[in-house]
Amino acid sequence: MAKEPMLQFVKMARETPEKRPANLRSHDFHEIYREFAAAKAAEQASRCSQCGVPFCQSHCPLHNNIPDWLRLTATGRLQEAYEISQATNTFPEICGRICPQDRLCEGNCVIEQSGHGTVTIGAVEKYITDMAWENGWVTPGRPMHERSESVGIIGAGPGGLAAADALRRAGLQVTVYDRYDRAGGLLTYGIPGFKLEKDVVMRRVEQLEQAGVQFVLNCNVGEDLSFDAIRGQHDAVLIATGVYKQRDLAAPGVGSAGVVQALDYLTLSNRRSFGDEVDADGLDASGKRVVVIGGGDTAMDCVRTAIRQGATSVKCLYRRDRANMPGSQREVANAEEEGVEFVWLAAPRGFIAGDAVEGVIVQKMRLGEPDASGRQMPEVIEGADYVEPADLAIMALGFEPEDLPTLWGVPELAVTRWGTIKADFRTHATSLPGVYAVGDIVRGASLVVWAIRDGREAADAILDYLAQPAIAAAE
Ligand code: FAD
Ligand code: SF4
Ligand code: SF4
Repeated sequence: MAKEPMLQFVKMARETPEKRPANLRSHDFHEIYREFAAAKAAEQASRCSQCGVPFCQSHCPLHNNIPDWLRLTATGRLQEAYEISQATNTFPEICGRICPQDRLCEGNCVIEQSGHGTVTIGAVEKYITDMAWENGWVTPGRPMHERSESVGIIGAGPGGLAAADALRRAGLQVTVYDRYDRAGGLLTYGIPGFKLEKDVVMRRVEQLEQAGVQFVLNCNVGEDLSFDAIRGQHDAVLIATGVYKQRDLAAPGVGSAGVVQALDYLTLSNRRSFGDEVDADGLDASGKRVVVIGGGDTAMDCVRTAIRQGATSVKCLYRRDRANMPGSQREVANAEEEGVEFVWLAAPRGFIAGDAVEGVIVQKMRLGEPDASGRQMPEVIEGADYVEPADLAIMALGFEPEDLPTLWGVPELAVTRWGTIKADFRTHATSLPGVYAVGDIVRGASLVVWAIRDGREAADAILDYLAQPAIAAAE
């Protein structure tokens, strides 16, 4: 334990948990950061200056009580630190691992602003909850009293699961429907194990089951079961289906063998991490020259997966430059260490393909005038095209919502012009009475921590809705 409780940032430098060396970690799908040792976690927590107005907290979407759990960690009161941390966050160990902290809590830490290097909030949050699991402090949220009302949740990603946890703790009967064979959404089949190991997600799902949440898996709502049937079976419904329509490219060669979509590629790789028997069907990078197109977190996950599968080379094409890419700088640095080459200011014009893809026709770009948002627009440099050889080209161009009103036959479900569901920003109520919506299907592709926040808020709103006299009387 640190000798002096807090404000140690003046004497002690910022340290993150040790990263496994790139040459070792790039052969497996285990997480790349080691756990803090107990003394190190306490030391790093003690760097916090216990701000009266903690900007870290106001920039955490869950408004986690960060200064308090840092102080408790620094003084060795780990169980209390865990209690405070889990009071505002359903899955703190998951956020500690995969939140882009540099843009949220840590990016707003005042000691960083004064040049001392931010407190390592995410790593401490992960440490506290991993220790809580080790010590048996994380227990299923079984309710004190059962209630008769039931809620149907469509989508078992972080938004749906956070709501399921809160509603079950309140005693409601909760059923979660998902079209995949495992719960977890993108935590399970999108995000690779080197960022978030699969057992970290599965033990949460098991606890929800132990608390009495029912899972109906392999159930594609709209095909296997209608949305109306779900509404008919439950007193309230929550839509938490995420965004899964992958953006395509209208270019010559799209559709050729070896030109694949990012989520198909990542899902198959994640299934392998579970030990599933899978037919790789052109979705394996081993022994191939791989080109990934895109500059977001999905592209970063693809390039690093390809390295681990044994690609002979991995290049990432992005149409803007490093400073203007949407992906996390931490993940770019990790990818570079592992052997990925970034080709900035480069966009695909098409693909050269015979029986299968042979190369990507790359057009060189430059940054032009800023658009309405102030971001410089990429412009093509004519006559500078070249061919980048490739045996596997992965498109990571982003995701859009599916057309749920049409797919589910509910035109009254209001959507925005982008196709996301229209929902009240605080209660998450949709245009249909008793139907709520959270996470990416409302926000567009976003972050796990926002989906958790939405799920928790929607659970509160559903409890209020079910407490209304007319609804309670109908029970
Ligand atoms: P999802 O997690 O997408 O879950 C939706 C669930 O609904 C899925 O299980 C799906 O099968 C199910 N579903 C959909 N339609 C139906 C239907 N008709 N019937 C039944 N079930 C249905 N965020 C971060 O914070 N950090 C990261 O590092 C990060 N990395 C990412 C990497 C990748 C490759 C991707 C794609 C996203 C990443 N994100 C990351 C974003 C994050 O995963 C999402 O913002 C978050 O998972 C959204 O949660 P959700 O609950 O809204 O939806
Ligand atoms: Fe930071 Fe995310 Fe944890 Fe909030 S939930 S404290 S943003 S790591
Ligand atoms: Fe501590 Fe930084 Fe938060 Fe201030 S902003 S309370 S120093 S973690």
